[in-house]
Amino acid sequence: VKRTSREIRTANRYRVLRQAIADSPVSRPRLAEATGLSTATVATLVGELAGAGMLVDAGFEDSGGGRPRGLVAVNPDGGALIGVDVAETYVHAGIYDLAWTPLARTERALRPMDSTPERVARAIGAAVRAVAGHHAAAGRPVIGAGVSVPGVVDREAGVSVFAPNWGWQDVPLLRLLAERLPYRLFLDNPLHACLTAELWSGAARGRDDAVVINLGTGVGAGLALGGELHRGVSNSAGEWGHTMLVLDGRLCHCGRHGCVETYVGAPGIVQSLRELSPLSPLLHPEDQTETIAELARACRLGDPVAAKAVRETASYLGAAVADLVNLLDPEIVVLSGWVARRLGTPLLRQVRQSVAQHALRRTPGSPEIVLSPLGANPVSLGSATFALEGVLATVGQRRPGRAS
Ligand SMILES: [Zn+2]
Repeated sequence: VKRTSREIRTANRYRVLRQAIADSPVSRPRLAEATGLSTATVATLVGELAGAGMLVDAGFEDSGGGRPRGLVAVNPDGGALIGVDVAETYVHAGIYDLAWTPLARTERALRPMDSTPERVARAIGAAVRAVAGHHAAAGRPVIGAGVSVPGVVDREAGVSVFAPNWGWQDVPLLRLLAERLPYRLFLDNPLHACLTAELWSGAARGRDDAVVINLGTGVGAGLALGGELHRGVSNSAGEWGHTMLVLDGRLCHCGRHGCVETYVGAPGIVQSLRELSPLSPLLHPEDQTETIAELARACRLGDPVAAKAVRETASYLGAAVADLVNLLDPEIVVLSGWVARRLGTPLLRQVRQSVAQHALRRTPGSPEIVLSPLGANPVSLGSATFALEGVLATVGQRRPGRAS
Protein backbone atom coordinates (compact mmCIF):
# COMPACT_ATOMS: atom_id res chain seq x y z
CA VAL A 1 0.00 0.00 0.00
CA LYS A 2 1.48 3.32 -1.06
CA ARG A 3 1.27 5.91 1.67
CA THR A 4 0.97 9.63 1.09
CA SER A 5 3.57 11.99 2.58
CA ARG A 6 0.91 13.20 5.00
CA GLU A 7 0.26 9.66 6.24
CA ILE A 8 3.99 9.11 6.67
CA ARG A 9 4.26 12.32 8.64
CA THR A 10 1.37 11.28 10.90
CA ALA A 11 2.95 7.86 11.39
CA ASN A 12 6.25 9.52 12.33
CA ARG A 13 4.55 11.79 14.87
CA TYR A 14 2.93 8.70 16.29
CA ARG A 15 6.31 6.94 16.58
CA VAL A 16 7.98 9.91 18.24
CA LEU A 17 5.14 10.39 20.71
CA ARG A 18 4.94 6.67 21.48
CA GLN A 19 8.69 6.59 22.20
CA ALA A 20 8.49 9.78 24.26
CA ILE A 21 5.70 8.26 26.37
CA ALA A 22 7.74 5.08 26.88
CA ASP A 23 11.02 6.86 27.69
CA SER A 24 9.99 10.20 29.25
CA PRO A 25 12.04 12.32 29.86
CA VAL A 26 14.17 11.72 26.80
CA SER A 27 16.60 13.65 24.59
CA ARG A 28 15.98 14.32 20.90
CA PRO A 29 19.04 12.30 19.80
CA ARG A 30 17.79 9.34 21.85
CA LEU A 31 14.35 9.65 20.19
CA ALA A 32 16.06 9.69 16.79
CA GLU A 33 18.05 6.58 17.65
CA ALA A 34 15.01 4.70 18.96
CA THR A 35 12.70 5.61 16.08
CA GLY A 36 15.26 5.41 13.27
CA LEU A 37 14.31 8.95 12.14
CA SER A 38 16.88 11.68 11.48
CA THR A 39 17.63 14.16 14.28
CA ALA A 40 16.35 16.99 12.09
CA THR A 41 13.01 15.20 11.54
CA VAL A 42 12.73 14.42 15.24
CA ALA A 43 13.44 18.06 16.14
CA THR A 44 10.64 19.21 13.81
CA LEU A 45 8.16 16.63 15.09
CA VAL A 46 9.00 17.38 18.73
CA GLY A 47 8.36 21.06 17.95
CA GLU A 48 4.94 20.24 16.51
CA LEU A 49 4.00 18.01 19.43
CA ALA A 50 5.19 20.66 21.90
CA GLY A 51 3.14 23.24 19.98
CA ALA A 52 0.09 21.05 20.48
CA GLY A 53 0.83 20.84 24.22
CA MET A 54 1.60 17.12 24.13
CA LEU A 55 5.32 17.35 24.93
CA VAL A 56 7.06 19.77 27.29
CA ASP A 57 10.70 20.66 28.02
CA ALA A 58 12.04 18.69 30.98
CA GLY A 59 15.46 20.10 31.85
CA PHE A 60 18.83 18.82 30.71
CA GLU A 61 20.58 15.49 30.66
CA ASP A 62 23.88 15.11 32.49
CA SER A 63 26.25 14.67 29.56
CA GLY A 64 29.47 14.16 31.54
CA GLY A 65 31.10 17.49 30.60
CA GLY A 66 29.89 17.70 26.97
CA ARG A 67 27.20 20.03 25.67
CA PRO A 68 24.08 19.42 27.79
CA ARG A 69 21.22 17.82 25.90
CA GLY A 70 17.72 19.15 26.38
CA LEU A 71 15.11 16.63 27.49
CA VAL A 72 11.48 16.46 26.54
CA ALA A 73 8.70 14.67 28.38
CA VAL A 74 5.12 13.82 27.66
CA ASN A 75 2.76 16.38 29.16
CA PRO A 76 0.13 14.37 31.07
CA ASP A 77 -2.04 17.48 31.32
CA GLY A 78 -1.93 18.13 27.57
CA GLY A 79 -5.36 16.60 27.11
CA ALA A 80 -7.45 13.57 27.90
CA LEU A 81 -8.35 10.66 25.64
CA ILE A 82 -11.35 8.41 25.91
CA GLY A 83 -11.47 4.79 24.78
CA VAL A 84 -14.62 2.68 24.57
CA ASP A 85 -14.83 -1.10 24.32
CA VAL A 86 -18.25 -2.20 23.11
CA ALA A 87 -18.44 -5.96 23.48
CA GLU A 88 -21.44 -8.24 23.02
CA THR A 89 -22.19 -8.25 26.75
CA TYR A 90 -20.95 -4.89 28.07
CA VAL A 91 -19.83 -1.35 27.27
CA HIS A 92 -16.64 -0.22 28.99
CA ALA A 93 -15.21 3.30 28.77
CA GLY A 94 -11.94 4.65 30.14
CA ILE A 95 -10.45 8.14 30.20
CA TYR A 96 -6.66 8.57 30.20
CA ASP A 97 -4.16 11.37 30.41
CA LEU A 98 -1.45 11.65 27.76
CA ALA A 99 0.95 9.48 29.79
CA TRP A 100 -1.77 6.75 29.63
CA THR A 101 -2.60 6.98 33.30
CA PRO A 102 -6.22 5.84 33.69
CA LEU A 103 -8.24 8.63 35.31
CA ALA A 104 -11.69 7.03 35.46
CA ARG A 105 -13.61 4.14 34.00
CA THR A 106 -17.09 2.73 33.83
CA GLU A 107 -18.66 -0.51 32.72
CA ARG A 108 -22.30 -1.36 32.17
CA ALA A 109 -23.94 -4.56 31.00
CA LEU A 110 -25.36 -4.77 27.51
CA ARG A 111 -28.27 -7.17 27.31
CA PRO A 112 -28.99 -9.06 24.08
CA MET A 113 -32.12 -6.93 23.57
CA ASP A 114 -29.96 -3.79 23.71
CA SER A 115 -27.92 -4.62 20.63
CA THR A 116 -29.79 -2.44 18.14
CA PRO A 117 -27.62 0.39 16.71
CA GLU A 118 -29.71 3.09 18.45
CA ARG A 119 -29.47 1.41 21.84
CA VAL A 120 -25.77 0.66 21.51
CA ALA A 121 -25.14 4.30 20.52
CA ARG A 122 -27.13 5.42 23.55
CA ALA A 123 -25.09 3.13 25.84
CA ILE A 124 -21.82 4.43 24.37
CA GLY A 125 -22.97 8.03 24.82
CA ALA A 126 -23.86 7.42 28.48
CA ALA A 127 -20.53 5.66 29.19
CA VAL A 128 -18.49 8.43 27.54
CA ARG A 129 -20.35 11.17 29.39
CA ALA A 130 -19.83 9.31 32.67
CA VAL A 131 -16.03 9.16 32.35
CA ALA A 132 -15.67 12.66 30.83
CA GLY A 133 -17.67 14.11 33.70
CA HIS A 134 -15.82 12.18 36.41
CA HIS A 135 -14.10 14.46 38.91
CA ALA A 136 -10.71 12.79 38.26
CA ALA A 137 -10.85 14.07 34.67
CA ALA A 138 -12.15 17.52 35.57
CA GLY A 139 -10.54 20.41 33.75
CA ARG A 140 -8.80 18.30 31.13
CA PRO A 141 -9.88 18.94 27.57
CA VAL A 142 -10.95 15.73 25.82
CA ILE A 143 -8.98 15.74 22.57
CA GLY A 144 -10.56 12.63 21.10
CA ALA A 145 -12.55 9.47 21.74
CA GLY A 146 -11.94 6.08 20.14
CA VAL A 147 -14.70 3.49 19.98
CA SER A 148 -14.19 -0.21 19.31
CA VAL A 149 -17.02 -2.43 18.10
CA PRO A 150 -16.73 -6.12 17.21
CA GLY A 151 -16.58 -7.19 13.59
CA VAL A 152 -15.45 -5.50 10.41
CA VAL A 153 -15.24 -1.71 10.57
CA ASP A 154 -14.73 0.95 7.90
CA ARG A 155 -12.60 3.44 9.81
CA GLU A 156 -12.72 6.25 7.29
CA ALA A 157 -16.51 6.18 6.95
CA GLY A 158 -17.12 5.40 10.63
CA VAL A 159 -19.31 2.46 9.66
CA SER A 160 -19.68 -0.98 11.23
CA VAL A 161 -19.65 -3.03 8.04
CA PHE A 162 -20.43 -6.41 9.56
CA ALA A 163 -20.96 -7.47 13.18
CA PRO A 164 -22.17 -11.09 12.96
CA ASN A 165 -23.04 -11.50 16.65
CA TRP A 166 -25.49 -8.58 16.45
CA GLY A 167 -26.62 -9.12 12.87
CA TRP A 168 -25.40 -5.59 11.98
CA GLN A 169 -24.61 -4.66 8.41
CA ASP A 170 -23.44 -1.20 7.29
CA VAL A 171 -24.42 0.63 10.47
CA PRO A 172 -23.23 4.31 10.39
CA LEU A 173 -22.25 4.22 14.05
CA LEU A 174 -20.08 7.36 14.16
CA ARG A 175 -22.93 9.41 12.69
CA LEU A 176 -25.23 8.11 15.43
CA LEU A 177 -22.60 9.00 18.03
CA ALA A 178 -21.81 12.43 16.60
CA GLU A 179 -25.43 13.40 17.36
CA ARG A 180 -24.75 12.62 21.01
CA LEU A 181 -21.12 13.51 21.73
CA PRO A 182 -19.17 16.74 21.16
CA TYR A 183 -15.78 15.06 20.63
CA ARG A 184 -13.69 14.01 17.69
CA LEU A 185 -14.61 10.35 17.28
CA PHE A 186 -12.73 7.42 15.79
CA LEU A 187 -13.95 3.88 15.12
CA ASP A 188 -12.12 0.55 14.94
CA ASN A 189 -12.45 -3.01 16.24
CA PRO A 190 -11.24 -4.80 19.39
CA LEU A 191 -8.62 -6.91 17.57
CA HIS A 192 -6.79 -3.84 16.35
CA ALA A 193 -7.31 -2.09 19.68
CA CYS A 194 -5.97 -4.87 21.91
CA LEU A 195 -2.92 -5.31 19.67
CA THR A 196 -2.19 -1.58 19.79
CA ALA A 197 -2.55 -1.53 23.58
CA GLU A 198 -0.01 -4.37 23.92
CA LEU A 199 2.39 -2.65 21.49
CA TRP A 200 2.26 0.71 23.30
CA SER A 201 2.04 -0.39 26.91
CA GLY A 202 1.85 -4.15 27.32
CA ALA A 203 3.59 -7.43 26.63
CA ALA A 204 4.41 -6.66 22.98
CA ARG A 205 6.26 -3.42 23.70
CA GLY A 206 9.48 -3.36 21.71
CA ARG A 207 8.50 -6.50 19.76
CA ASP A 208 8.24 -6.47 15.99
CA ASP A 209 6.16 -9.56 15.32
CA ALA A 210 3.38 -10.22 17.77
CA VAL A 211 -0.04 -11.84 17.93
CA VAL A 212 -2.65 -10.75 20.47
CA ILE A 213 -5.51 -13.21 20.83
CA ASN A 214 -8.73 -11.56 21.93
CA LEU A 215 -11.00 -14.06 23.68
CA GLY A 216 -14.48 -12.88 24.48
CA THR A 217 -17.90 -13.70 23.08
CA GLY A 218 -16.26 -13.20 19.71
CA VAL A 219 -12.70 -14.23 19.03
CA GLY A 220 -9.95 -12.80 16.83
CA ALA A 221 -6.27 -11.96 16.61
CA GLY A 222 -4.52 -8.60 16.41
CA LEU A 223 -1.37 -8.93 14.32
CA ALA A 224 1.81 -6.85 14.45
CA LEU A 225 4.15 -7.35 11.51
CA GLY A 226 7.44 -5.44 11.51
CA GLY A 227 6.41 -3.47 14.60
CA GLU A 228 3.17 -2.14 13.15
CA LEU A 229 -0.46 -3.13 13.34
CA HIS A 230 -1.44 -5.10 10.24
CA ARG A 231 -4.89 -3.97 9.09
CA GLY A 232 -5.08 -5.54 5.65
CA VAL A 233 -6.56 -3.83 2.60
CA SER A 234 -10.11 -3.57 4.01
CA ASN A 235 -9.20 -3.17 7.71
CA SER A 236 -10.44 -6.71 8.38
CA ALA A 237 -7.16 -8.51 9.05
CA GLY A 238 -7.20 -10.67 12.17
CA GLU A 239 -10.60 -12.35 11.74
CA TRP A 240 -8.92 -15.56 12.77
CA GLY A 241 -12.00 -16.44 14.85
CA HIS A 242 -13.71 -17.24 11.55
CA THR A 243 -10.99 -19.51 10.21
CA MET A 244 -12.00 -23.14 10.17
CA LEU A 245 -10.88 -25.38 13.00
CA VAL A 246 -13.25 -28.33 12.51
CA LEU A 247 -14.54 -29.38 9.09
CA ASP A 248 -18.37 -29.42 9.22
CA GLY A 249 -18.14 -28.46 12.88
CA ARG A 250 -20.39 -26.23 15.01
CA LEU A 251 -22.55 -23.63 13.29
CA CYS A 252 -21.18 -20.08 13.60
CA HIS A 253 -23.00 -16.70 13.61
CA CYS A 254 -21.15 -15.88 10.41
CA GLY A 255 -23.13 -18.64 8.65
CA ARG A 256 -20.26 -21.10 8.23
CA HIS A 257 -19.37 -24.21 10.18
CA GLY A 258 -16.44 -25.10 12.42
CA CYS A 259 -15.03 -21.60 13.02
CA VAL A 260 -12.42 -21.21 15.79
CA GLU A 261 -14.85 -18.90 17.59
CA THR A 262 -17.48 -21.61 18.01
CA TYR A 263 -15.03 -23.61 20.18
CA VAL A 264 -13.08 -20.96 22.11
CA GLY A 265 -15.47 -17.99 22.29
CA ALA A 266 -17.52 -17.76 25.50
CA PRO A 267 -20.67 -19.38 24.01
CA GLY A 268 -18.50 -22.16 22.53
CA ILE A 269 -16.91 -22.88 25.90
CA VAL A 270 -20.36 -22.93 27.49
CA GLN A 271 -21.47 -25.41 24.81
CA SER A 272 -18.45 -27.66 25.50
CA LEU A 273 -19.30 -27.60 29.22
CA ARG A 274 -22.94 -28.46 28.46
CA GLU A 275 -21.87 -31.35 26.23
CA LEU A 276 -19.62 -32.70 29.00
CA SER A 277 -22.25 -32.27 31.70
CA PRO A 278 -25.74 -31.18 30.57
CA LEU A 279 -26.99 -30.59 34.12
CA SER A 280 -23.82 -28.97 35.48
CA PRO A 281 -24.59 -26.43 38.23
CA LEU A 282 -21.92 -24.23 36.66
CA LEU A 283 -24.26 -23.50 33.76
CA HIS A 284 -26.22 -20.27 34.02
CA PRO A 285 -28.72 -20.18 31.19
CA GLU A 286 -28.68 -16.89 29.28
CA ASP A 287 -25.64 -15.67 31.21
CA GLN A 288 -22.35 -16.59 29.55
CA THR A 289 -20.38 -14.11 31.71
CA GLU A 290 -21.47 -15.80 34.94
CA THR A 291 -21.00 -19.30 33.49
CA ILE A 292 -17.39 -18.54 32.50
CA ALA A 293 -16.77 -17.00 35.94
CA GLU A 294 -18.17 -20.12 37.65
CA LEU A 295 -16.15 -22.38 35.38
CA ALA A 296 -12.94 -20.50 36.26
CA ARG A 297 -13.71 -20.72 39.97
CA ALA A 298 -14.54 -24.42 39.83
CA CYS A 299 -11.41 -25.18 37.80
CA ARG A 300 -9.23 -23.49 40.41
CA LEU A 301 -10.94 -25.57 43.11
CA GLY A 302 -10.10 -28.78 41.23
CA ASP A 303 -13.60 -29.62 39.93
CA PRO A 304 -12.98 -32.43 37.39
CA VAL A 305 -15.70 -31.39 34.91
CA ALA A 306 -14.55 -27.77 34.94
CA ALA A 307 -10.94 -28.86 34.53
CA LYS A 308 -11.93 -31.01 31.57
CA ALA A 309 -13.87 -28.17 29.90
CA VAL A 310 -10.89 -25.85 30.28
CA ARG A 311 -8.53 -28.55 28.99
CA GLU A 312 -10.71 -29.09 25.96
CA THR A 313 -10.90 -25.35 25.29
CA ALA A 314 -7.13 -25.04 25.63
CA SER A 315 -6.50 -27.85 23.18
CA TYR A 316 -8.79 -26.26 20.55
CA LEU A 317 -7.21 -22.88 21.21
CA GLY A 318 -3.67 -24.24 21.10
CA ALA A 319 -4.28 -25.96 17.77
CA ALA A 320 -5.67 -22.75 16.27
CA VAL A 321 -2.85 -20.63 17.72
CA ALA A 322 -0.34 -23.12 16.29
CA ASP A 323 -1.72 -22.27 12.81
CA LEU A 324 -1.00 -18.60 13.46
CA VAL A 325 2.48 -19.46 14.71
CA ASN A 326 3.21 -21.50 11.57
CA LEU A 327 1.87 -18.70 9.39
CA LEU A 328 3.44 -15.65 11.04
CA ASP A 329 6.39 -16.90 13.10
CA PRO A 330 5.79 -14.32 15.89
CA GLU A 331 8.10 -13.52 18.81
CA ILE A 332 5.24 -13.44 21.27
CA VAL A 333 1.59 -14.50 21.56
CA VAL A 334 -0.50 -12.60 24.12
CA LEU A 335 -3.81 -13.99 25.43
CA SER A 336 -6.18 -11.09 26.04
CA GLY A 337 -9.91 -10.44 26.47
CA TRP A 338 -12.29 -11.11 29.34
CA VAL A 339 -12.41 -14.90 28.84
CA ALA A 340 -8.60 -15.19 28.97
CA ARG A 341 -8.53 -12.94 32.03
CA ARG A 342 -11.12 -15.14 33.78
CA LEU A 343 -9.63 -18.54 32.92
CA GLY A 344 -6.09 -17.27 33.54
CA THR A 345 -3.15 -19.49 34.37
CA PRO A 346 -4.79 -22.94 33.94
CA LEU A 347 -5.76 -21.96 30.39
CA LEU A 348 -2.36 -20.43 29.66
CA ARG A 349 -0.43 -23.47 30.86
CA GLN A 350 -2.43 -25.86 28.70
CA VAL A 351 -2.39 -23.59 25.65
CA ARG A 352 1.41 -23.55 25.83
CA GLN A 353 1.45 -27.36 25.81
CA SER A 354 -1.03 -27.54 22.98
CA VAL A 355 0.88 -25.04 20.81
CA ALA A 356 4.13 -26.89 21.41
CA GLN A 357 2.39 -30.06 20.30
CA HIS A 358 0.74 -28.63 17.17
CA ALA A 359 3.15 -26.02 15.78
CA LEU A 360 6.04 -26.98 13.54
CA ARG A 361 9.36 -27.18 15.27
CA ARG A 362 11.32 -23.98 15.05
CA THR A 363 14.46 -22.56 16.60
CA PRO A 364 14.37 -21.46 19.39
CA GLY A 365 11.19 -23.41 20.04
CA SER A 366 7.64 -22.18 20.58
CA PRO A 367 7.07 -18.43 20.84
CA GLU A 368 6.65 -16.84 24.22
CA ILE A 369 2.97 -17.17 25.21
CA VAL A 370 1.72 -14.91 27.99
CA LEU A 371 -1.46 -13.50 29.51
CA SER A 372 -2.00 -9.80 28.88
CA PRO A 373 -0.36 -7.84 31.71
CA LEU A 374 -2.68 -4.88 31.09
CA GLY A 375 -5.23 -4.17 33.79
CA ALA A 376 -8.85 -3.23 33.53
CA ASN A 377 -9.54 -3.10 29.81
CA PRO A 378 -6.86 -3.23 27.09
CA VAL A 379 -9.42 -2.63 24.32
CA SER A 380 -10.46 0.72 25.79
CA LEU A 381 -6.81 1.69 26.16
CA GLY A 382 -6.13 0.69 22.54
CA SER A 383 -9.20 2.57 21.31
CA ALA A 384 -7.94 5.70 23.06
CA THR A 385 -4.64 5.33 21.22
CA PHE A 386 -6.57 5.29 17.92
CA ALA A 387 -8.11 8.58 18.95
CA LEU A 388 -4.64 9.91 19.68
CA GLU A 389 -3.43 8.70 16.29
CA GLY A 390 -6.37 10.46 14.61
CA VAL A 391 -5.65 13.66 16.51
CA LEU A 392 -1.97 13.48 15.53
CA ALA A 393 -2.98 13.53 11.86
CA THR A 394 -4.00 17.17 12.27
CA VAL A 395 -1.48 18.41 14.83
CA GLY A 396 0.51 20.52 12.38
CA GLN A 397 -2.64 21.98 10.81
CA ARG A 398 -3.75 23.65 13.99
CA ARG A 399 -0.83 26.06 13.80
CA PRO A 400 -1.43 28.60 11.08
CA GLY A 401 1.53 29.39 8.91
CA ARG A 402 3.09 25.96 9.40
CA ALA A 403 3.29 23.35 6.72
CA SER A 404 1.90 20.00 7.81
ZN1 LIG B 1 -17.58 -17.87 11.81
